[in-house]
Amino acid sequence: MTEIIDGNEVAQGIRDGLVAGIDDLTAAGTTPCLATVLMNNDPASQTYVSMKHKDCEEVGIATRDIELDPEAPAAELFDTVDELNADPEVHGILVQMPLPDHVDEREVLRRIDPAKDVDGFHPENVGRLVAGNARFKPCTPHGVQKLLAAADVETEGADAVVVGRSNIVGKPMANLLIQKADGGNATTTVCHSRTDDLEAKLRAADIVIAAAGVPEMITGDMLSADTVVIDVGINRVETDEGSELVGDVDFESAKPKAKAITPVPGGVGPMTRAMLLWNTVKAASAESGVDVRLP
Ligand code: NAD
Repeated sequence: MTEIIDGNEVAQGIRDGLVAGIDDLTAAGTTPCLATVLMNNDPASQTYVSMKHKDCEEVGIATRDIELDPEAPAAELFDTVDELNADPEVHGILVQMPLPDHVDEREVLRRIDPAKDVDGFHPENVGRLVAGNARFKPCTPHGVQKLLAAADVETEGADAVVVGRSNIVGKPMANLLIQKADGGNATTTVCHSRTDDLEAKLRAADIVIAAAGVPEMITGDMLSADTVVIDVGINRVETDEGSELVGDVDFESAKPKAKAITPVPGGVGPMTRAMLLWNTVKAASAESGVDVRLP
């Protein structure tokens, strides 16, 4: 029987596991606090930011909600980041992407204090991750690791295939899988839009992590029996009834082949949100010197 890995349930476990640490930090005078900065009018980004605030509220993490005019000069965003960096009550800073064209995204990521970079995208934190000394693991691949652990999937010695090489998912995912650490020690192949014979790579995999952003591109006939399939993709597609969210994996055809599989929605998505809380608590713990147990 194929196991359907329930991301909502695993994420709830992470949130529940964070509460004691948040309470301890708050009792010691440090309420963990996440600041979000939104500089676009995109309704999807606005929804993501408001969900992050709601998630924080539910577990007792304080929030700051900063919205900047998308037409404002880049300097306004840099000043905002500088102020948040200097604010001792703020532990995590998240600048919601995308940014307007006139703002250099890389410059913004470099500007965030690496100790408050709860997305894990600052070059210093990227370097630390690659060197096996991560401070903040990026939320989506970290969430995937937690899902694999929750489903008792052994990564050590496994052949893993990551489809996608983005800086936010594919590359950090591959880096975590090759680390000499729990949730790592996998022999990892990274596939991308120029990969020759993707199917052959997929068929040789014990674990497939799909993060290509192409609706249902991986079908059951491309997989060997008993593959563990983690679908990071979130794609909105038009249907006769309106629209729906689908992953990068064709769930119906992949499910009978898979040993375990994540659904979309309800798989990786809730984990990404939960791991942002995790990183914020980690940041507050490091800043305050109050050690807390992280789930
Ligand atoms: P991206 O567009 O930055 O990167 C996609 C990658 O897939 C690229 O590296 C590209 O080379 C590769 N790719 C594209 N087409 C391919 C093909 N036909 N064969 C093989 N590789 C191909 O996307 P991203 O930001 O990494 O996001 C990937 C998907 O994951 C998107 O659907 C996105 O919405 C979703 N996502 C989900 C979460 C979550 O929390 N579940 C978080 C981030 C991204």
